[in-house]
Amino acid sequence: MQPRTADGPPTGHAPDWRAWGLDGGVLTEPTPGSGGVALWLPGAKERGGRPWQRVSLRPDTGFAPGPGLQATGATVVRVRQSGGLFGKLLGRLRAGDRTWVLPDGSTAEQQGERQSDVLLVWSEAGAAPPDEAQIRSRWPGARGVRRVGTNLLLVEGVEGPGPGAPAAPLPDSPRAVAERLLAAARAAGDRRAEASALADLGTAYLHESDAEKSVAALGEALAIYKELRDRSRESDTLGNMGLVVMAIGNPGRALEIFQMSLGLAREAGDRYAEKAALERVGLAGAKLGRGAEALAAFEQALALARAVGHRKHEADLLWYAAIQHAELGHRDQALASGEAAIALMQKMRNPQAALFAEHLRKYRAGETGAALAAPPAAPAGSPEAYLGGSVVADLWAAPGPGQAAAPAEGPGLLRMALSAAKSMARFVGSGFKTAAPDTVRRRLETCASCEHFTGLRCRLCGCFTGAKARLDHEECPVGKWPA
Ligand code: SF4
Repeated sequence: MQPRTADGPPTGHAPDWRAWGLDGGVLTEPTPGSGGVALWLPGAKERGGRPWQRVSLRPDTGFAPGPGLQATGATVVRVRQSGGLFGKLLGRLRAGDRTWVLPDGSTAEQQGERQSDVLLVWSEAGAAPPDEAQIRSRWPGARGVRRVGTNLLLVEGVEGPGPGAPAAPLPDSPRAVAERLLAAARAAGDRRAEASALADLGTAYLHESDAEKSVAALGEALAIYKELRDRSRESDTLGNMGLVVMAIGNPGRALEIFQMSLGLAREAGDRYAEKAALERVGLAGAKLGRGAEALAAFEQALALARAVGHRKHEADLLWYAAIQHAELGHRDQALASGEAAIALMQKMRNPQAALFAEHLRKYRAGETGAALAAPPAAPAGSPEAYLGGSVVADLWAAPGPGQAAAPAEGPGLLRMALSAAKSMARFVGSGFKTAAPDTVRRRLETCASCEHFTGLRCRLCGCFTGAKARLDHEECPVGKWPA
């Protein structure tokens, strides 16, 4: 067997390592075909040879952990270089699966197992280099933070199975579950279950950005709910239909649909559906530039969220209100609303709180953030497509029709926090904690017997429970999950 030099073909776009200002002594090993490199970081020479860490980047795991920051997952192998001619000869003789060749041609023996709980963090062009204190507050559980270049930090021991992994292993794609539920409902001739499965399927397609299939499935669900005169579920389905219309760039038509959804929710006396509809009315109003109307809708939704005790939605709505106040030039109200959102997130142990706080700090200081990279796209149908923030938050973060991308200043900074939060949620390594398997099981059992469970989603919060139950800090909107 030959000595090892690389981990296998790269799967993503390699970052520009030349902008990292690597410390003297760090060796680079080109990665075939990617234009990227693996880094060799030297340790202090000891008796028995010099230790090295070989850091192999995983460019497909790149994400933006904060304004102006970029990060990527990496794997680290620790090796010991025997040194000198004797070491080189010995290496050649003993070349095997745990023997590595350094870029200078010498060999080294692997010590221990490969580590995958590692991130490399750097700043984008024009932004200040990341500082260690900032990184430690971002990943408080990190085992170590080491500067390896003027613009590069190595963060070890980030929580979970490692960056790049989905925030939790999901048993199946929500779309596949919805398709199975639909087939079963049709086989049993159960119209209500059929409508519920169609609504779930349409929502799954919405998360996968497949507007055509989403509208088709939601339209069928809507027709059945009309037949059954189920106003509450009609409102939920229409709301998702409006989000599809919004996502394809027609906020005017979306607003009409959301208003119909609101009317149905009120007719049904369903306060959860009413606050969801009001949130969407606000979103469409904001996209249409009707700031005062949007704010009024968010405030009504906020009052309902407080009345029913739905803290997660309350925090979201406070942040949306902060954005809208900022857009309207109400700086003090924007700050107060943003601070209230962050306080609530902290109370809920939401690891995204620090990220929102950083965006609010920059807004308060009048700073300009470097543009954030777009959240990594999840493959259609993969579990990751259902993680990382609501569709409403995605639409907030996206520019409206004819609008440029959000400027990295003023209200744009507050909107950008939503994109950054989405990026963060996709990676366990970025600070999210997964719930213990037993907790997940008990949460899912509770949902399975709950009247608000559609078979796939919680109708009260709109989340896919299979994804939500796996994130430790999440909670049931009506407190049903076991402590
Ligand atoms: S999260 Fe709570 S309300 Fe929603 S389905 Fe589960 S148990 Fe029911």
